Amino acid sequence: MERIGKFLRDREEKRLLRVLRPARFRKEGKIYFKDKSFIDFSSNDYLGLSGHPKIKEAAEKSITALGTSSSASRLLSGDLNIHHELEKRIASFKEKEDALLFNSGYQANVGIISSLLRKGDAVFSDKLNHASIIDGMLLSGAKIFRFRHNDTEHLEFLLKSQRNNYKDSLIVTETVFSMEGDKPPLGELVFLKEKYSSMLLVDEAHATGVFGEKGKGVVEEAGMAGRIELIMGTFGKAMGSFGAYVACSSELKKYFVNSARSFIYSTSLPPSIIGANLAGLDLIEEEPFRRSTLLRNSDYFRQELGKRGFSARGTSQIVPLIFGDSEKAAKISRDLQKEGYWVLPIRPPTIPEGEARLRFSLTYHHTKDMLEKLIDDISKVSHV
Ligand code: PMP
Repeated sequence: MERIGKFLRDREEKRLLRVLRPARFRKEGKIYFKDKSFIDFSSNDYLGLSGHPKIKEAAEKSITALGTSSSASRLLSGDLNIHHELEKRIASFKEKEDALLFNSGYQANVGIISSLLRKGDAVFSDKLNHASIIDGMLLSGAKIFRFRHNDTEHLEFLLKSQRNNYKDSLIVTETVFSMEGDKPPLGELVFLKEKYSSMLLVDEAHATGVFGEKGKGVVEEAGMAGRIELIMGTFGKAMGSFGAYVACSSELKKYFVNSARSFIYSTSLPPSIIGANLAGLDLIEEEPFRRSTLLRNSDYFRQELGKRGFSARGTSQIVPLIFGDSEKAAKISRDLQKEGYWVLPIRPPTIPEGEARLRFSLTYHHTKDMLEKLIDDISKVSHV
């Protein structure tokens, strides 16, 4: 196809071609390539759990007991007791009646949104919501309204003028935005969804394990679980494993089991992953110091960058440092690589034009000393 060659040439010319860069392995916050290692600021292993002995042991035990695959979808013979055990744990963790597992966060958002909504319905989505949310909305056939990032005035304007023209309505937001590192005004969103008879879906992919006294997420922090219909989250980030879920009512769960195609038509998560996820939930409870240290260090990092004149956004463990120009962000990333850091530039189309950035994803492995040195190195390579 002619279009393919043209697309690739175009991306290359604009220096926006995405390429894969396999590492040999990752360990304790470092990433190891053929002949070099770097401190890794690009992973979502926020609590440093991905190599935790308890999680590895739990995965191994599950393999020994139950094999390496579930070998079928949940609705055929791939439904094991441990899937249900994990769902019960998540429901209680997220303070909802029930929960349903999905194979990934991507599949969860696509499945939840596309099965909930149809032509004639409306969905109101924050402009910076993740691609999986966008794809779910597109697949649903519902009318999509995108409100300016975290702008509830704009959302209310859209609800006021449009809500009555549609049958069912859903508002969707992330609770920690993956590229901005900030949080939404959750209380106002809940107020609006109630005022305009909508449901609310929150994506806690980057918040679970990190926020809230018990690490349940931003919904816990805001005390809002009882008023939010759909709380989605993932295991591939702070939980150090893989997979995803939605916590919701038993009725909604039953509905998804019967209608969410990404749930129905996919081999269920294997025993090793379920075992790992159960152990991950234990560790969130048992080792709260991981999240408190992470958030303390993240505040320090952001504040110190601010003092040095940098534009560091967000209010979480995700710290985007805005440089504007794509070339500049790419060059600083290369220069930081020479200093031993693995932090990649985020450029359009992932983020808006003119907002190219380095996205520092902080984890429990990044000590205050490391961050102090990093701040000096950022200053050095960007001549501020
Ligand atoms: N939602 C958000 C906000 C995300 O950032 C991501 C992953 N980057 C996903 C969903 C998808 O989750 P998964 O990686 O488990 O597919």
